[in-house]
Amino acid sequence: MQVPFFRPRIEEDEIEAAVATLRSGWLTTGPRVKRFEEEFAEAVNARHAVAVNSCTAALHLATEALGLKAGQGVLVPTMTFAATAEVVRYHGAIPVLVDCDPNTGNMDLEAAERILLGQQRLPGSIPADLKIVGMIPVHVGGFMMDVDAVRRLASAYDLFVIEDAAHAFPAAFRLDREGGWRQCGQDTADVTCFSFYANKTITTGEGGMAVTSDPELSARMRSMSLHGLSHDAWGRYASGGSWDYRIVAPGFKYNLTDIAAAIGLRQLRKAEEMRQMRERIARYYSEAFRDMDEVALPAQSTDRIHSWHLFPIKLNLDRLSIDRNNFTGLLKEKGIGCSVHWRPLHLHPYYEETFGWSLRDFPVASREWERLVSLPIFPGMRDEELEHVVATITDLCQDYSRTRRLKRTEQMTAF
Ligand SMILES: *Cc1c(COP(=O)(O)O)cnc(C)c1O
Repeated sequence: MQVPFFRPRIEEDEIEAAVATLRSGWLTTGPRVKRFEEEFAEAVNARHAVAVNSCTAALHLATEALGLKAGQGVLVPTMTFAATAEVVRYHGAIPVLVDCDPNTGNMDLEAAERILLGQQRLPGSIPADLKIVGMIPVHVGGFMMDVDAVRRLASAYDLFVIEDAAHAFPAAFRLDREGGWRQCGQDTADVTCFSFYANKTITTGEGGMAVTSDPELSARMRSMSLHGLSHDAWGRYASGGSWDYRIVAPGFKYNLTDIAAAIGLRQLRKAEEMRQMRERIARYYSEAFRDMDEVALPAQSTDRIHSWHLFPIKLNLDRLSIDRNNFTGLLKEKGIGCSVHWRPLHLHPYYEETFGWSLRDFPVASREWERLVSLPIFPGMRDEELEHVVATITDLCQDYSRTRRLKRTEQMTAF
């Protein structure tokens, strides 16, 4: 049986919405983008939303709007995707990598504070007097960081906060004391950036959204997303709009199309239903692997609504006679698509060579990533697919277990 790592859930109504847009004569940024922005802002309780053509674009616009300059530093977790750090490099600024929490894989805020206090040596090629002006935490897999703790650290050191929420829609965080829930994007950072890439929790093929409560940041991101013009194309071409725009800055070309937004509007309405479908799969896996000593399960908490974008298990390598790469190789042989999130940034040639980061600088990420295997989790995953994954992992753990083999040998000797 073949089980893909991910299968997008596109139904007839998404297809019809895209076709209707094609027939409407308005293909690029227009009324559907405007409505998608409004409905998305409402969904996460944000004041302003700017739709763009990727989360990477949203992160770039956010760093630009917050005034990031060449030579400044931004705290970025080493456990993340390329985009989080590359947008810092777009400005000639320096991504100061931070180790991860072994339990959640999210940025370790204590390690971040050691860097800010100057207690942690930065690698040789990073100037010792580097001014760190911001941080870009990532909610890995959709398990939100403690956004209050992020805020406290940021205000103590006067940092901006941009959330890379590519995995975290819909997701929420509960404040311990008051007990109130906050959506990811509900004023949880200066700017929160979401992704609608093909395999994210909702998709428009390619797409992203930047949300903020600050009207000036919103206006700057909107203008810079379309060549730094004073009006967007909708304002210019819609009835009542004017041909006369002004270029106020050398902007970018990051606007979302109405075709994509039409799909996004349909996906948005199903976002919570699809999250619950993923949660059901996460529960099934958690139950199935609970007593299995060979693997550790992803973090969960009653103070989070988990988007369950990913379900990463960790191999307990001391209990297995197989390493992670051979393990994923055997899963592939059994027809199961899996992935690893991620090879940490400090172990990529560009970051190694440019800044001199090494294994020793990030002991947790360097160790933990060797154990990671992300299992298939997507709405519409069939029961027999789920059972095939569970049975295969169970068999592999049994076949390659050190301890169980020991027990078997002991039993045989005793016999
Ligand atoms: C997917 C992803 C991005 C980039 O999203 P795009 O919409 O493809 O630009 C950024 N950060 C993380 C953590 C991601 O997983």
